[in-house]
Amino acid sequence: MGWSLQIGEIKEHYLTEQQIWQMFNVFFSSKSKNTTTYKFGLIKSIIENLYNVNENLELSYDLLFESFTKIYWNLVIHHHLRQGNHSVKSSEIEKVLTNFREKYGIPDNFRFDKLSLILQLELVQKIKRKAKRYVIGALYGDSREVIYEFDLKREYMRLNGSVYKFMLKYQKVLTYLTNYHLALLLEKYNKAEDTVHMLMKVENVSKRSSLDEFYHILISLGENACFYCGKTLGNRAVVHVDHFIPWSFVQADHLWNLVLACRNCNISKRDQVAKPSFLNILIERNERLVNLKEDIVQRKFEMYRPEKLENLYEYSVVNGFDNLWTPNVDR
Ligand SMILES: [Zn+2]
Repeated sequence: MGWSLQIGEIKEHYLTEQQIWQMFNVFFSSKSKNTTTYKFGLIKSIIENLYNVNENLELSYDLLFESFTKIYWNLVIHHHLRQGNHSVKSSEIEKVLTNFREKYGIPDNFRFDKLSLILQLELVQKIKRKAKRYVIGALYGDSREVIYEFDLKREYMRLNGSVYKFMLKYQKVLTYLTNYHLALLLEKYNKAEDTVHMLMKVENVSKRSSLDEFYHILISLGENACFYCGKTLGNRAVVHVDHFIPWSFVQADHLWNLVLACRNCNISKRDQVAKPSFLNILIERNERLVNLKEDIVQRKFEMYRPEKLENLYEYSVVNGFDNLWTPNVDR
């Protein structure tokens, strides 16, 4: 049983796409036993962090479990959804979340990003401790010991290179599969709702209630014009924080993928990718920010490389975001 392991090694490094599909198909099938939703929550967290790995494809548990904690805070506290069978007691992770909420008297309409950074950090550490014990080894065992290697002491997982490439290439479809199966399980454990309704909750569970934090960072770093049309920005009410590569694809809020845009551009761009010339402008913009040597940029850009943004752009097109948008005013 994988769950009791301290260290897991990748059993087989080179896998063909067919073998990886097979592994995921079994993982998503009824052959894979689930008594809670956590394996799907972990896959979802890995997908959100595909661009947070270092050059050795290592992903730190702090980043991984920040996503995981956010997902489960929003499911358990915000949406009041049970994560396991009704007949069994609350899972360890549910207990941590509920106790934390009670300890600090946090209203249950708060989404995770509304908690103060100090509280977020404290909760992530608590969840990380439990998830190390109950989740990391379980997914490892269920994915035939090929998806990643891990070391609970060093607090990282290293993704298998073949699987990593596969996940980038099929990110959209894997996101759909994960959300769908997570919604099915949640529906099973929470009798009141239908799958369509549940799926909408799951699809938006990682979304922030506000991108204000990023607005203030970008303004403080001297971003004062619409990234797309160049128009000088008005007040906060008419400025939008835009995911250059749409959120629906990247499923994460990387500062290096966020720009300020005027209302017109943002509304007209919607869920589309901008034409390639804007990719180059964004790479230059990011270089400018990095050169400012500000603490906040150093932190938010720790895992950023221009090649990652180029890859993300390329993969977004492969994943169906191929209607390249351009603003009305040429830049
Ligand atoms: Zn504009």
